[in-house]
Amino acid sequence: MPSKNSVYNTRMKNLTSIPNELLHMETLQAASNEKAATLILLEHLAEIDRRRLYAMRGYASLWEYVHKALQYSESQAYDRVSAMRLMVRVPEVKTELQSGKLTLTTTAKLGAHVRREKLRPEETVSLLREISGKPSREVERVLVSQSTEPRKPDRVKAVTPELARITLDVDQEFLKLVQKVKDLKGNSALSHQDVFKTAMQDYVKRRQPKPEKHEPVAAVPLQAPALLRAPEVKTTPEKQVTKSRYIPMNIRTMVRVRSEQRCEYADPVTKRRCESKSGLQFDHINPFAKGGAHTFQNLRHYCKAHNTLAAIEQFGGAKMRPYLKL
Ligand SMILES: [Zn+2]
Repeated sequence: MPSKNSVYNTRMKNLTSIPNELLHMETLQAASNEKAATLILLEHLAEIDRRRLYAMRGYASLWEYVHKALQYSESQAYDRVSAMRLMVRVPEVKTELQSGKLTLTTTAKLGAHVRREKLRPEETVSLLREISGKPSREVERVLVSQSTEPRKPDRVKAVTPELARITLDVDQEFLKLVQKVKDLKGNSALSHQDVFKTAMQDYVKRRQPKPEKHEPVAAVPLQAPALLRAPEVKTTPEKQVTKSRYIPMNIRTMVRVRSEQRCEYADPVTKRRCESKSGLQFDHINPFAKGGAHTFQNLRHYCKAHNTLAAIEQFGGAKMRPYLKL
C-alpha cells in the first residue's frame, strides 16, 4: 500500500525557483486535480455505502467511517456524505460537480435542503439549475428563501431558578401533533407544557432501556461474538425455550453485562469493534425466524447498522429491501 503522502512526495518540487507563468499553470492544474479527486472520493463513498462496507469494517454509519477511518473533521465528513447521497439520487449533480458549477460545499448544502424539505427529484433538478454556478453565499440565500424551516433559532431563557421560557417557531405539522395529543388525552384545555411532557415521557418510556431486577450475573470477559462462552449461570435449555419473541430478562441482562452496553460487532478483517452505544438491539446469531433460540450464546448486542448488516447476511439484500429502503 502506498504511503499517505506518496503522490505528494513524487510530484512535489521546490516551487521557489519556477517562473511565474509556470507557477500559475501548475496551480490551475493542482486545483483541477483537487476537484477531480473529490469526485473520485464521492464515487468511492457511494460504492462503500451501497455495499455497507462501513458497517463491515465496524462503523455504525457512513459518516462515522468518513470521520474516523478517513480522518476528515466532523463537518467535512458531513459535507461528503451529504453531497454523495444527493449525487446518487440526482445524476445531474455529478455533471455539475464535474464542470465545477457546483462545489462540494454547495452540493452538501443543497443535499441537506433537499432532505429537510423532502424535495422530489424533478424539484431538486429545478433548484439545481437555479443555484448552479452561483457562489456559496448566494446559494445559501436561495436555499433560505425557499426553506419552510423556522427561521429563528430556539431560545431558552431562565425566568426564575425553577422556571424557564422556551421560544420556538413551529410548523403546521407540529401544531397538528399538539392537537392530536390533546384529542388522545381527551382534554382540549391541556397546556403546551403538558402536551410536550406527555409526548416526551412516552418517548423516554419507549426508548429508555428498561430497568431490570438485578439478578446475580457472572462477569463475562469481552470476547468476539464467535468465541463467546456461556458464563457459569444456569440458563434455560434451548428445547424448553418457548417460541415467544420475548427474550428472558436474565438473558438480556447477561448480554448487556457482556457487551458493556456497546455494540458487539467486530470487523472480521481488522478486528475493530463498533463504538456505538445508542439504539442497541438484541440480534440472534441463528435468526429467531429460522428457529434460533433466546440463549446467551445465540444473542449479541448490536447497533442498528450491524443488526441490518446481519439481517442482510442472513436473509439476503433482496428479501430485506422492502424493510431497508435500499
Ligand atoms: Zn455497531
